[in-house]
Amino acid sequence: MGIMQLFKQTSGWLYLNSSVGRNQLHGAGVILMLHRVLPDDDAADLPHRNELCIGTQAFDHFLGWLSRHFDCVPLMDILQPTQSPTKRPRVSLTFDDGWRDNALHAFPVLLKHQVPASIFLSSDFIGSRQRFWWESLGETLWGSHGEEARIHLIESLQQAGRPLPAQLHDANEQRRSLALLRFLQSLKTLPPQALSRLTDECPAESMPQALDWQQVRELENSGLVRFGPHGASHAILTGLDDRTLAEEIRRSRDALHNGCQRPLPVYCYPNGDNDARVRQQVADHDFPFALGTAAGIYRGHPDPLALPRFGVSQRVARNPQLLSWRICRGARA
Ligand SMILES: [Zn+2]
Repeated sequence: MGIMQLFKQTSGWLYLNSSVGRNQLHGAGVILMLHRVLPDDDAADLPHRNELCIGTQAFDHFLGWLSRHFDCVPLMDILQPTQSPTKRPRVSLTFDDGWRDNALHAFPVLLKHQVPASIFLSSDFIGSRQRFWWESLGETLWGSHGEEARIHLIESLQQAGRPLPAQLHDANEQRRSLALLRFLQSLKTLPPQALSRLTDECPAESMPQALDWQQVRELENSGLVRFGPHGASHAILTGLDDRTLAEEIRRSRDALHNGCQRPLPVYCYPNGDNDARVRQQVADHDFPFALGTAAGIYRGHPDPLALPRFGVSQRVARNPQLLSWRICRGARA
């Protein structure tokens, strides 16, 4: 472990266990952002997966740590508290996109620790075989679907004007994975149609990537999980014209109303991207709250349509004191 990481962990521990830290967090809420939970922790450790994927073991460890330091509450208990604050700060888990592994691998661990969660669905994907481009492209380039598929996709990327960087052939697995992460981030600037075409070039996985509506209902019936919208097509909302933007928000809202008994009055922006126009549209579609991705603590936030969250990576889940370090910095900002 590096000196900096050790310093952050120790400071984070001191913060949560000091009266200064406890006073700063009194009555405040911490909203956490997660995406996927994988059965294999080693797979989640690789840089190109680390930000969006947590292994089951690390997730179990993380929820145990959270339960010792926080009151783990449903999201609406933070946004619209009905009880006066307890001594401990409140934390709420949110998952973005609606991955199938949320039901298969995250839910059993949530159940074990009795930790509530909210899942924000990109509604077009739910109950369909539609795929998230970064997962399909990333894993195909990683070679998870075989060498033939990898070479075919590399050729298609070349034709799309995005040749594979040399570092992606590095013999070192960590460096190769890091290069893949950077390359995937650079592809975000491609038009959605191009990304969709490239995704179609990737071989189909054996299972759909996303939840289906039956799973959504089962999770909702557990009483531990609630759902909200995260776009319909996962298009970045700030890039859409007015008509498409309204249609995207309406379609996702209606899908949640049809598929869930008690959808959350909370919108979750794909990629966190929002501006005044997007926030107004979301408010016009009857959402009093919306989640972004800027880091920060919630204490009756000035703009309920741009609520802050802390992202939880595999690294943080393995070393939860890193989160208290970030919360400590967020509290002072
Ligand atoms: Zn997303």
